Amino acid sequence: MGTTAVILGGGYAGVMAANRLAGSGRPGLDVVLVTPEPRFVERIRLHEYTAGTCADATVDFDSILHPGVCRISGRAERILSGERTVHLTGGAEAGYDYLVYAVGSAAGTAPDGALRIEQLDGAAAARRELAALPAGARVAVVGGGLTAVETAAEAAGSYAHIRVSLHSAGPIVPRLGARTRRSVEKSLRRAGVEVHSGTPVRADEDMHASLGADVVLWCAGFGVPGLAAASGLPVDDDGRLRVDPGLRVRGQDRIYGAGDAAVIDEPLYDYLRMCCAAALPMGADAAGNILRALDGEAGVRHDSGFRGLCISLGRSDGAVQFLSADDSPTRFHLHGRTAAVQKEIICRMTLRWIRGEAKRSGAYTWPTGPQAGRATTAGPVPMTRS
Ligand SMILES: Cc1cc2nc3c(=O)[nH]c(=O)nc-3n(C[C@H](O)[C@H](O)[C@H](O)COP(=O)(O)OP(=O)(O)OC[C@H]3O[C@@H](n4cnc5c(N)ncnc54)[C@H](O)[C@@H]3O)c2cc1C
Repeated sequence: MGTTAVILGGGYAGVMAANRLAGSGRPGLDVVLVTPEPRFVERIRLHEYTAGTCADATVDFDSILHPGVCRISGRAERILSGERTVHLTGGAEAGYDYLVYAVGSAAGTAPDGALRIEQLDGAAAARRELAALPAGARVAVVGGGLTAVETAAEAAGSYAHIRVSLHSAGPIVPRLGARTRRSVEKSLRRAGVEVHSGTPVRADEDMHASLGADVVLWCAGFGVPGLAAASGLPVDDDGRLRVDPGLRVRGQDRIYGAGDAAVIDEPLYDYLRMCCAAALPMGADAAGNILRALDGEAGVRHDSGFRGLCISLGRSDGAVQFLSADDSPTRFHLHGRTAAVQKEIICRMTLRWIRGEAKRSGAYTWPTGPQAGRATTAGPVPMTRS
């Protein structure tokens, strides 16, 4: 009898998992990807798309998915783990033997009138608004994390006739080493961005009036879909699916989680933040452990870590902060055009890694994580790229 693996979410984690499973060539294994978007969204380019510096932030699924993956266009509404069934929008159902929960992150809430760019529709709306602004108009970007910083720099670089300000409650990108942060601030100012750090923006005020802005882009933290919680699966305080180090839900031997929507509930893994750099290895390992389960083998503990944080600051400037495996900054960093080129290479590589996995299951490899005893246990990182 055949086995069906259903993957919920066609983002970085979900597509990587689907490719690893389908490419394994396992006889009788059907791989089904459920995702609402008709095309793959390159979320890591949404700030570029917002600012009009990239024409399209999507790619054809056919160009990145293993041909053996059956893609269903839809959204999961409820997982019935007892029945191994997923209810989809429109009343359809998908039965599974194994499930990968990879529904990613969504934009968190935003005050009335502010725009969010972390999803394609929000980015498209912001892109239209920015493109229509007259000379002298003001755009305020709220947030101090990477999304806010990259968006502000990209908008200022793309639209010389508008004034862009960045408003952060604390220091911008606090995780950076002090020298890298100073250099990023310098780059932002050079790009014409007015940086206001250390001043919280109140969400209950009239944003446009209080910030003196025509357009407000709210880039302050991600949220996650409520699907796991609504399905009675274990979640953390932020609604992320709790999984064990083998990426499997405890007590549910058929459900795995990967990417932004899942959290490994051991303090040793607190260094893993929500990012593409973590989503890809998690997707690959979730798939690998399903293949091991099919062979009657135990799953492996997930092991991934960081090497560098690439920040784009417009099209010709950037910063690279080299990192220890546990995401802490080292003293090494790069700036300027070299860093911008490095960031662009990484963006292209993400698609190459996914495509490489479609061609050969197991092709994608990644940096290992911190040694067990050395991982930070300083507490979970916040729900943001900052
Ligand atoms: C502007 C911007 C720049 C970024 N730059 C970087 C960067 O440089 N480096 C980096 O590492 N990270 C970066 N990130 C973060 C990165 O994009 C995310 O961490 C990454 O997309 C997470 O991958 P994922 O597969 O978990 O989720 P996603 O890529 O969010 O994909 C989740 C998918 O699940 C689908 N989905 C949602 N709900 C359902 C449902 N109910 N049923 C079925 N499908 C569903 C979604 O539609 C989506 O297709 C950036 C993010 C933004 C917004």
